[in-house]
Amino acid sequence: MADFGSQSIATIQAGLTQKEFSAKEMTEAVFVRIQAVDEQVHAFLETTEAQALEQAARVDAAVAEGRLQELGPLAGVPVGYKDNMNLEGTHTTCSSNMLRNYVSPYTATCVQRTLDAGAIPIGKLNMDEFAFGSSTETSAFGPTRNPWDLERVPGGSSGGSAAAVAAGMVPVTLGSDTGGSIRQPGSFCGIVAVKPTYGVVSRYGVVAFGSSLDQVGPFARSVEDAALTLNALAGHDPHDCTSQDITTDFTAVLGKGAKGLRVGVVPAFMEAEGLTAEVKEKVQEAATKLQEAGAELIEVSLPHAQAAMSAYYVLGPCEAFSNLARFDSVRYGYCDPDHSDLGSQYEASRAKGFGPEARRRIMLGSYLLSAGVYDTYYYPAQQVRTLITQDYLEAFTQVDVILAPVAPRTAFKFGEIGDPTEMYLSDMFTISINIAGNGGMAMPVGLGRESGMPVGVQLIAPPFKDENMLQAAWVLEQAYGVAPVAPAFAQGKVGE
Ligand code: GLN
Repeated sequence: MADFGSQSIATIQAGLTQKEFSAKEMTEAVFVRIQAVDEQVHAFLETTEAQALEQAARVDAAVAEGRLQELGPLAGVPVGYKDNMNLEGTHTTCSSNMLRNYVSPYTATCVQRTLDAGAIPIGKLNMDEFAFGSSTETSAFGPTRNPWDLERVPGGSSGGSAAAVAAGMVPVTLGSDTGGSIRQPGSFCGIVAVKPTYGVVSRYGVVAFGSSLDQVGPFARSVEDAALTLNALAGHDPHDCTSQDITTDFTAVLGKGAKGLRVGVVPAFMEAEGLTAEVKEKVQEAATKLQEAGAELIEVSLPHAQAAMSAYYVLGPCEAFSNLARFDSVRYGYCDPDHSDLGSQYEASRAKGFGPEARRRIMLGSYLLSAGVYDTYYYPAQQVRTLITQDYLEAFTQVDVILAPVAPRTAFKFGEIGDPTEMYLSDMFTISINIAGNGGMAMPVGLGRESGMPVGVQLIAPPFKDENMLQAAWVLEQAYGVAPVAPAFAQGKVGE
């Protein structure tokens, strides 16, 4: 049986249409492979066989009637979901002991849209607890491993979503990105990873971290598969007032080429302290490839971007502190037994239910929002946010897309970064985009000269012009090829 997780959406749909295999056979094969492979990677927290087979039957019925394509852009595509997204009947744990036993009472809009578009739900994916982190090491259920080197982290917080695609278990997964959590693991695992403009995808049913920063997006191995998934995800949802009415066909720009495309490069990013030589070289190489394909390179400046990290570690914890208040052991979450009063039950439940990084963010947020302190930090951080947003808008009067690093280095080893503030630097090139709200994506450009690990470059689009970055990404894909499955997990190596 073919290795379906390694195939493109087009190949899967062609195979279904030509009746080379049924959706049921494919779905069963996907679970067999996950069973064989995931012991090493630990991307999945839960698999959803019953729901997958139910949807596969719907797909097979559509094939029998010759109307597979009518199901939608993800017809018959196996998809995995980060475990902060509700899928009715599955657990939604956010990789936290706080929600270890929580069962989704309904389905998140982003998940529902993939199902409405014909996707087959395969399971829920590991993450940093409540999406706090850059390595998936803070999961209460143990870390996910990078399929390119099992001694290394897959990045985070959507590490399970990135690793599942990189190991060829499923062709598409969903992740969420508050400061870099789609793009950084995408880069560490060598795949395509898209954080759309804030408001392109509904956040309804996704457990909130920083509500003004969070955005859902796809992981895939090709730009086309990412664009098809975006077509399914994007659009207004009456349950999320920040979601917008999007009618863009994100595949329309693929194949357009780079002629006339104005690509911005940010000299200050390239000189940033901590950027490794191998990543810098790859960004320069990608710039040259875009130029060779006909793009014009233009230097732009984002004068306030260096303040993004400081603003984020004020705004992010403040929003997280507010959002996590609902886990009070009464309405939601772990309830520590045998307490005679609610106060001590609340205290003990939160102390035991949340891990160290979640507690750190809650304490930080509660301090930053307290009387007297608020004016010193929260208010200026919002002013910085406005300045960064203006920087991007100004830059995008000169260019159509910006090219930048994703992360300063390639995937690190487990335990290598112990200091939380050093871990926070993983997102030094991604965070300003969440602050401003526009789109950003990671695009794989081969392996680093020194580490031999995947390197991604970041393409940044103007607000609600996410198609611009997909256009440039497609050009890079022609130069570098479609992202491969990590060699140790390529077809025939494992589980065949
Ligand atoms: N690494 C960043 C953090 O820890 C971003 C996480 C995210 O995007 N969810 O907050």
